[in-house]
Amino acid sequence: MEGAIRFRFMNFTPDARIYVAGHRGLVGSALWRELTRQGYRHLLGRSRSELDLVDPARVLEFFEEQRPDFVFVAAAKVGGIHANNTQPASFLYENLQIQNNLIHSAYLTGARKLLFLGSSCIYPKLAPQPMKEEYLLTGPLEPTNQWYAIAKIAGIKMCQAYRRQHGCNFISVMPTNLYGPNDNYDLETSHVLPALIRKFHEAKVKGTGEVVCWGSGGPLRELMYADDLARACLFLMEAYSEEQFINAGCGDEISIKDLAEHVRKIVGFQGDIVWDASKPDGTPRKLLDSSRLFALGWKPQVDLETGIRLAYQDFLASWGGDGRKPRTMQPSFATQ
Ligand code: GDP
Repeated sequence: MEGAIRFRFMNFTPDARIYVAGHRGLVGSALWRELTRQGYRHLLGRSRSELDLVDPARVLEFFEEQRPDFVFVAAAKVGGIHANNTQPASFLYENLQIQNNLIHSAYLTGARKLLFLGSSCIYPKLAPQPMKEEYLLTGPLEPTNQWYAIAKIAGIKMCQAYRRQHGCNFISVMPTNLYGPNDNYDLETSHVLPALIRKFHEAKVKGTGEVVCWGSGGPLRELMYADDLARACLFLMEAYSEEQFINAGCGDEISIKDLAEHVRKIVGFQGDIVWDASKPDGTPRKLLDSSRLFALGWKPQVDLETGIRLAYQDFLASWGGDGRKPRTMQPSFATQ
């Protein structure tokens, strides 16, 4: 089936009209930075107040007016372990709506190519490590984020189905855990790294003796700087047109305990770390096997130490040195 499809052809050149859905979020803003850096001139972005991606009529109207050639689907309702665990309906409904509206409108208006961003949580909770693309749907999901994962799996299948039935050049990329500029620092809804940065910084500023972290500290996570993912996405938009979705990770993992130690040192907090076992650990390990992507010639550039320093700088710039209140509101639509 794959080989038989003929695509309308247009190169991914600086003249192309490119829509970055979710351009204010962690991944979308990194895509925007990288596209600008590489000289792409016609970038389209809409904030949530300008375009509600949950509304099918508004999304189609936008595509009919703007006719993007290339679409990056970096818009999603995202959150860390607590948000996922406590808002199952929102995570399932909003993500299905957003991605369906974007994918279907891109098809109806003849977009040349679309890149859908998923997540490493699509894989079974106890998948063998590192996780290869083939492990999709081979076992039960991690319960805390199954709602988000089901939506992302549906997104992969949408891209594959539109390719098969309509000949659309729609591809999917599964990033590992990400962090970087424009991250979400809200302690109720954030992922672990921005939460640690904020907790240690505030404890340092206030002179608190200890910082409470969640779970056992035992789980392992692979963490990649968002700008590395953006470079991978631009590379794949240009070079990859297969039905098979592709993993995007850096290949290194770290325990949450070691991560907390790193952040503690970089932020300069002198006190103790206390582990709150009443909070969930989530999946024990989620390391992606990114050998498919590496074999195409891409590799990450930002190591964890450098990345955490850059993320801490971003926190200081966007939250103010006192760490107490944000100067700008965080977007609620972004991507993991
Ligand atoms: P996950 O990768 O989907 O599990 O999401 P997170 O990034 O939110 O959590 C990763 C791991 O970090 C889990 O084992 C959490 O229990 C742990 N963790 C430790 N402290 C924190 C914290 O302050 N916030 C969050 N979100 N996770 C924490």
